[in-house]
Amino acid sequence: MNDDHDYPKPTLFIAGVWRAAGDGATIPVVDPATGATIADLPVATQGDLDEALAAADAGFKIWRAVSAYDRARVLRRAADLLRERASQIGAISTREQGKPISESTAEAFACADIFDWYAEEARRAYGRIVPSKHPGVRHLVTKEPIGPVAAFSPWNFPTTIPSRKLAAALAAGCSVIIKPAEETPGSALALARALDDAGLPKGVLNVVFGVPPDISSYLIASPVIRKITFTGSTAVGKQLGVLAARVMKPTTMELGGHAPVIVFADADLDRAVPMLAAGKYRNAGQICIAPTRFYLHESIHDAFVEKFAAAAARLRLGNGLDPATTMGPLANPRRLSAMHDMVAEAAATGARVVTGGDATGGAGNFWQPTVLADVPNAARIMNEEPFGPVAVTQRFDRFDDVVAQANRLPYGLAAYAWTRSARTAADIGDVIEAGMVGINFVGLTGPETPFGGVKESGHGSEGGSEGLDAYLHHKYIAQG
Ligand code: NAD
Repeated sequence: MNDDHDYPKPTLFIAGVWRAAGDGATIPVVDPATGATIADLPVATQGDLDEALAAADAGFKIWRAVSAYDRARVLRRAADLLRERASQIGAISTREQGKPISESTAEAFACADIFDWYAEEARRAYGRIVPSKHPGVRHLVTKEPIGPVAAFSPWNFPTTIPSRKLAAALAAGCSVIIKPAEETPGSALALARALDDAGLPKGVLNVVFGVPPDISSYLIASPVIRKITFTGSTAVGKQLGVLAARVMKPTTMELGGHAPVIVFADADLDRAVPMLAAGKYRNAGQICIAPTRFYLHESIHDAFVEKFAAAAARLRLGNGLDPATTMGPLANPRRLSAMHDMVAEAAATGARVVTGGDATGGAGNFWQPTVLADVPNAARIMNEEPFGPVAVTQRFDRFDDVVAQANRLPYGLAAYAWTRSARTAADIGDVIEAGMVGINFVGLTGPETPFGGVKESGHGSEGGSEGLDAYLHHKYIAQG
């Protein structure tokens, strides 16, 4: 039994009870900065999942009957508790995920903003009255909560990604069973604790962990579940999409990305480089909207690379709990071996390693902030999401050519462009195939704006009024 006093003991949360798995089975939770096991995580049995389904079914009947006004009060109270607890929650996230404590604490505060925003939006699920051609008949279009939700969230933003799903689903009046990533259980449990303390009725939210494909296939097939939401890789998203299609259930899929960054000849490099370097290396690059493929106009390519590599080399790697750390370890050993494979293959294919390019060695999953210049399209890293602290560059000359390169991949999540020209900004915004476009800006995440992709980056939006709509269905009532 592991017993690390700085890290809360993880449990399942079913029908309002914080408890172990039915058969007592556990898997280890590992600190990515040290490699040490910090806790034992319960692995839900099928019996536990049945209890969670029964609780979500009963919880839905209770919660949908609560007015939007009163649902909002619970969510706002949870938001206040998250703000009060932000530094403790930040420390939990850093222990299990690795990111610098400043990033994880800011993330906990961002969760509070998400809950506050959806508390307000809960009260704006307006329907409409459509004029009828039949005298005395009213056509009403109302919005109803879609039903119990099965949510699957990853480890890279262990509090904000679950928050986007929970806040919107609960605001809409749905109950939820969430399976957060097994790597980062403490962060999601801290959210559940805040909601429980805020007065969310028992059973409305249930948290389970275990073997991901076993849990997702069981929950998706259950007649109790009416909606599936997943954030993670495109490969897993497709598997869950097939399972959902078999039982005709709607999905929101927030999947992988490989964001192009187009820097035109007239860009303000003094503004672009620090913003893009911060966007690239935040969370050690493990962000689906991280700027990744840098298409640099040939007149500024070398100057940009020099400044950008200098910014990368200034980052201070270390344990995220050390306040001086500006980049932590990768979240798990899988990412470290992915970096090894992709960077070595790119170098062998002709890329130039400008800075970084290797693990730091020693304990923990530390990979140096890396810049690879002039990477050919044949390299794997130009085609597969690196999900790590690596920027890759190519040169371009003509607008149409760079657009073709940027749109070349099946991904379509985020894209970025830098220019001082209003014409170029408007043109690039129109032609880029992405769900989100940052022009002279990288901050694309906010509770009030839609977040989602096109092509194989998924479908549906989280955030904004679109995020609430994902948990509502439209009902037409003709009243004569
Ligand atoms: P992965 O695809 O195995 O897992 C991603 C997440 O999905 C994890 O949290 C995992 O627990 C969950 N998961 C895996 N299989 C599942 C299943 N059958 N049912 C339900 N949940 C399941 O990948 P990984 O090794 O953890 O991460 C690497 C890749 O995942 C990255 O290259 C990146 O493309 C993607 N990823 C994307 C995001 C995002 O924000 N879109 C977040 C994390 C990971």
